[in-house]
Amino acid sequence: MTRLVLILGDQLTPGLSALRAADPARDVVVMAEVKAEGSYVPHHPQKIALILSAMRHFAAELRAAGWQVAYTQLDDPENSHSIPGELLRRAAEYGASEIIATRPGEWRLITALEEMPLAVRQCPDDRFLCSEAAFADWAEGRKQFRMEWFYREMRRKTGLLMQGDQPTGGQWNFDHDNRKAAKPDLFRPRPPRFAPDAITAAVLDLVERHFPGHFGRLRPFGWGVTRADALTALDWFIGQALPRFGDEQDAMLAEDPTLSHSLLSPYLNIGLLTPLEVCTAAEAAHTAGKAPLNAVEGFIRQILGWREFVRGIYLRHGPGYAGQNVLKADRALPPLYWGAKTGMACLSHAVGQTRDLAYAHHIQRLMVTGNFALLAGISPQALHEWYLSVYIDAFEWVEAPNTIGMSQFADGGVLGSKPYAASGAYIDRMSDYCAGCHYTVAQKTGDGACPFNLLYWHFLLRHRARFEGNPRMAQMYRTWDKMDPARKAATLSEAEAFLQRLEAGEAV
Ligand SMILES: Cc1cc2nc3c(=O)[nH]c(=O)nc-3n(C[C@H](O)[C@H](O)[C@H](O)COP(=O)(O)OP(=O)(O)OC[C@H]3O[C@@H](n4cnc5c(N)ncnc54)[C@H](O)[C@@H]3O)c2cc1C
Ligand code: SF4
Repeated sequence: MTRLVLILGDQLTPGLSALRAADPARDVVVMAEVKAEGSYVPHHPQKIALILSAMRHFAAELRAAGWQVAYTQLDDPENSHSIPGELLRRAAEYGASEIIATRPGEWRLITALEEMPLAVRQCPDDRFLCSEAAFADWAEGRKQFRMEWFYREMRRKTGLLMQGDQPTGGQWNFDHDNRKAAKPDLFRPRPPRFAPDAITAAVLDLVERHFPGHFGRLRPFGWGVTRADALTALDWFIGQALPRFGDEQDAMLAEDPTLSHSLLSPYLNIGLLTPLEVCTAAEAAHTAGKAPLNAVEGFIRQILGWREFVRGIYLRHGPGYAGQNVLKADRALPPLYWGAKTGMACLSHAVGQTRDLAYAHHIQRLMVTGNFALLAGISPQALHEWYLSVYIDAFEWVEAPNTIGMSQFADGGVLGSKPYAASGAYIDRMSDYCAGCHYTVAQKTGDGACPFNLLYWHFLLRHRARFEGNPRMAQMYRTWDKMDPARKAATLSEAEAFLQRLEAGEAV
């Protein structure tokens, strides 16, 4: 009997476990563009276009490889507009009673498949380097989960950057050589952009018609949509940008939104590249003497360490993970996150490039938009929905742990040992934003004081009972205690006034 092989929009990998478990002579691949997936949050139009165009290209490649593909386009009249609905419709059409799927990344779809009135076989997603079971083994009995220990284990397991049982270069982590500021550089290599072909052009028109109110510019659209494009992007990064990746990893420049970052996350997350091939390519560049170890180790750690680690946390903590709010932050997301005018240059740049490119790099997400929300006590769920909506690479399994855990500490320290809270001095050190700002970063209180300077202390004092005993934060409380009383009073009252203006919806 025919079986249906479900391929989701983030499972566009030729060697996917569901395809390996199926038989092209007998089984039918089901792929569907459905409204439910396009609008469970208001995704950035470029993200929807990337996924739909990549799905259409992948379906064509599967057909060329001999698979029968039942593909539903967004505007097909019979489209039921949900994944379960399309599976039921195709099951009736082909007389199928069994579905083979690769286990979805997100609880929303895992649950939907579990509730299907058909037999569903969920094969493990073995594109990841750490299986759910292996993560559970590693986590078992540990009081705290720390990425660094997980990462070392993954280095040993995969042999990446290892010489025998020792880390290449004698150290696991070269971060002390990274984290430098950067200067504008006309000769910094620019990431490749891909001109839309006929399939992408049709998808862009479709997205324009169906999702008109979503935040973000659809055009110009320059993302790759095939594995061949993704391999071109990988080659560019390894050859051109990787050597500077470590040095520039944490830097931010107003006129250079991507610096030496890879921009590979969308391709990794929808399956056009696998994490192992990306890490192996980076390691090979080091072996060939084409990229320094601090850059290569830093890059591999993001994928082999952070990417695998956050997925492990997300799956281990179940569907409730994204609903946590231990700091009880409940302020609404201010309109500036949706592009409303703000005098804060750092936020204006981070949000502006997000609107235009559907991309911001890690430090912009963590230390600008995330840091501001943390300090201002914005609801982590409102922020989670924002990050899930606005980035080209946003899928809940990776976005939620980064937002709820790393950035907002809303999971109470499951993912990180302390909140990423910082005053304006950090942003000034790592960027050139402050020079063009309405506020003055060096000013701690008074007219024109940088809001991050005020809110930083307000945040620490709001949560003193929770954080004072944290050895990594105790010094900041001692600094506050020694501060001149008049300055303390001004800081807190000005922070309050700022929060009230934010609350009232005033431009800040
Ligand atoms: C609040 C917040 C939300 C985030 N949401 C997402 C998201 O929805 N999807 C997503 O893929 N990443 C997310 N990240 C992690 C990180 O910001 C992006 O992976 C990175 O900016 C993607 O750009 P890049 O490919 O140029 O990355 P590079 O800087 O070139 O890094 C290389 C790769 O490492 C991986 N990586 C780096 N940092 C992380 C991390 N913290 N967690 C997981 N993988 C990582 C990515 O696959 C990335 O492509 C988020 C981070 C924060 C702080
Ligand atoms: S002065 Fe403050 S608000 Fe302005 S760019 Fe610098 S950190 Fe951001």
